[in-house]
Parts: sequence; structure tokens; C-alpha cells
Amino acid sequence: MTGRHLPRRLALISVHTSPLAQPGTGDAGGLNVYVWQTATRLARRGVEVEIFTRATSSADEPSVEAAPGVTVRHVPAGPFDGLDKRDLPGQLCAFSANVLRAEAAQDPGYYDLIHSHYWLSGQVGWLARDRWGVPLVHTAHTLAAVKNASLAIGDTAEPMLRVIGEQQVVDEADRLVVNTATEGSELVDLYGADPSRVDVVVPGADLDRYSPGSKLAARAKLGLDPNDVLVTFVGRIQPLKAPDVLLRAMAPLIHADRTGRLRLLVVGGPSGNGAGLPETLIELAAELGVTERVTFLPPQAPDDLAQVYRASDLVSVPSYSESFGLVAVEAQACGIPVLAADVGGLCVAVADGVTGQLVAGHGIAEWTDSLAGLLADPDRLRAMGMRAAVHAEKFSWEHTTDALLASYDRALVGYRGVGGRGTGRFGLRRRRGRTRLTV
Ligand code: UDP
Repeated sequence: MTGRHLPRRLALISVHTSPLAQPGTGDAGGLNVYVWQTATRLARRGVEVEIFTRATSSADEPSVEAAPGVTVRHVPAGPFDGLDKRDLPGQLCAFSANVLRAEAAQDPGYYDLIHSHYWLSGQVGWLARDRWGVPLVHTAHTLAAVKNASLAIGDTAEPMLRVIGEQQVVDEADRLVVNTATEGSELVDLYGADPSRVDVVVPGADLDRYSPGSKLAARAKLGLDPNDVLVTFVGRIQPLKAPDVLLRAMAPLIHADRTGRLRLLVVGGPSGNGAGLPETLIELAAELGVTERVTFLPPQAPDDLAQVYRASDLVSVPSYSESFGLVAVEAQACGIPVLAADVGGLCVAVADGVTGQLVAGHGIAEWTDSLAGLLADPDRLRAMGMRAAVHAEKFSWEHTTDALLASYDRALVGYRGVGGRGTGRFGLRRRRGRTRLTV
């Protein structure tokens, strides 16, 4: 389905991370995959997409044609190196100024829609929206208020600065795109979003790349033993993703395993507050006496990641919070069942008891029991895997793109200029009394 009002040229803003970066480490993860997968598909549907992202290397060309119809513009804003995501609020003025200059060098009306990803980009999009007189669609990807409500032990709370910044963008954006209905309710309940401006757009998986395949061939490619029973964690190594919970939960099972075949595979690199976590995990594995049965792999390119999933018997996503969880869908698309935390979008991504299992809380005993239950019955696990592949077919980036175009259509049809919908700049002032900022 295409919207009646198809944007001709979309300014897509992704300040803190480039769609060209390797996901699975640093600040690159699901957002990068989302931006790339939807941008390339939007371009195929006739929308010219220009992605503005911060230049992080002197080798970054100012403008790169990354795919037909998709241009990545590297925006100078602060030094290339040494800035953490948490430093970037201080570079938003420089970033915005250079985005506005890039537009000013074009013919008037060059962009007819802005889509910002993550709150930092929303701040830029809000200013550009006012200057260009075009609607702003915003996707938060994660919400500080939600993350802070379920922090991992030892994790740091997201600062008030971010909560306030998110609130401003929620108040200003013409349309708000969320991954699930639950995330939509969180926007409404925690940030006072107007429900009529919220569009649920479910993310997808690249179903051409992530599909069932030979376990033996995948293991041979990765140098893994064909007889091992393999539980896999894929993602950025940070407290929020709880790889330590999985490791602790696996340890008693590894010790009890007489065959010596149970193995945990951890794929990904350090990120955010998890800067020292890979080392900590290695130390933890040693402390738990399971070093020999844990394998660490660096972030994998998508084709290699498909082999990682296919090589696995079970993929686990134990995150404390997850607005969706692309890894869960990708693994299922490869025919692998998923044991996931019963949080956020994982409840949509995994069909509990059918394509995997959801675990409430992060108690180690509960996770050990759930792992033991699933691993004890290989036939059931295989049946879940087969159902998982069918379930994953519901999640495709083509559907996501259809839904985004419908949201863009609503944004363009409903747009009546800055403040025109009555909940813009002026709306913020009017609503301030009931604005809830929950940390
Ligand atoms: N990913 C990858 N290589 C890796 C690890 C992860 O390409 O080694 C990708 C993975 O395919 C997924 C994304 O990173 O698309 C992670 O998205 P998810 O929603 O699971 O987590 P997020 O990073 O957004 O928290």
C-alpha cells in the first residue's frame, strides 16, 4: 500500500549513529538496521531519501550515495572522535545549523517531510520542521522513562535532560511512530502524547537474508562443534541486554551436563554503559567455572549473523527493556526458537509457548528453569523453531515500509503549518501543567 500523499524527498535524521555503521557494538544496533532497511525500501517506492548523520571520521565524504535513491549526508558537529552519545546534546546546535545550511543551498521546498529517529534527532527535526514548514514524523526507538523504570543492576539511569528532550519532541512532532501498541500506551501514559497522533508501525526482519538453513553447514562455517547444544546471545554488550543473567543461568546447567555439550555463544561488542562488560563477562565465566563452554564472537556482518542464528539451538534475549528486539525476529526467521524476557516488544516478537518462551523478571533460578525446560525436549524445541519461521513471516520490512508510508500520508494530509494542529509550540505551553516527567 502506498500513501495518497507520497513524500517526494524525505529528510531522515539519525544524529548519533549512521546506517552505514556495523550494528552490534557501540551505538549501532536496531535503529541503524531500521533506518537502512526502511530507507532503501522507501527509495524503491519512489521516495528520495537523504539521511543526515553526524560525521565521525575525517574519511566521511560530506555526501555519499549509499544505495539508489538513498544519500547519506555526514554532518560536521564537534570532533570526529571522543564524543559519547551523552555528549551529543551539546552538539545539537552545530548539527542543526549544518542541516539548515544544507537545505538552504537547495531549491525552496527541497524536502517535503522530516522523519527523525531517537530524541536527539527529534530536537533537530523540530527546528527544521519550523524552518521548512513541513511535517515532522518522529520515532523514539527507546524511551528514557520506560528504560529507567526497569534498570539493570549497576546500570545508570537516563538523565532528566533526555526525559525533558523526549517530552518536547513528543509535544512537537506531527506524528509519532511506535513499534508496538504497548509503546504507544507508554507514550500516552508517561509523556501525555495525543493518541490520535500515534501510529503503530511494527519493525521487521530481512526475510531474504534471515531464513532457515542447514545447522551443520552453519556450524562448519563458524568452526563450531556439530554435536554441541548451542544457546546464543546476540546484541550489544550492555547491562540493559542482561548477557550476565543468561551466563549465570546457564552455569548450573553446564555443570550438570554430563555430555559436556552445552555451550553459550555470545555475539556482539561493548556499548554505552557496558564499555568494560565483555571483560567482566569473561571474568564472570571464569568465576562460574564455565570458561571452556562459553564462546565470544565479535559483531557479525548480517550474512554471517544469519549463520550464527542457524547454528544455534536456542537464541536468548534476556533484556531488561526492549522497545522491540530485532534479534528475536531474525532468529525466528532462521527457524530458531527464542527464550526472551517478558518485556516491551519481545512480547509481540515471540509467541509465548509457541515459537519460544517468555520469562517474567530476571531471577537466575527462573531463567535456569526455563532454559532447562526447553533444552530437555529437543523435539519440542525443533517444533517451536518450525513455528518460529512461520511466525516471523509476519514481520517484514516491506510491511514496515507500507505502514510508514501510511503515517507519512497522515502527516502530509493533516499538516496545517507550524502550530496549525494546535499542539505545537503553543500546545506545549498550554499542556505544561499536566506534563508528566517520570524518571
Ligand atoms: N546485529 C548485527 N551483528 C551483530 C549483532 C547485532 O548485525 O553482531 C544487528 C542485528 O541483526 C539486529 C540489530 O543489530 O538487527 C540489533 O537490534 P535489536 O533490536 O535486537 O537491539 P538494539 O541494538 O536495537 O538494542
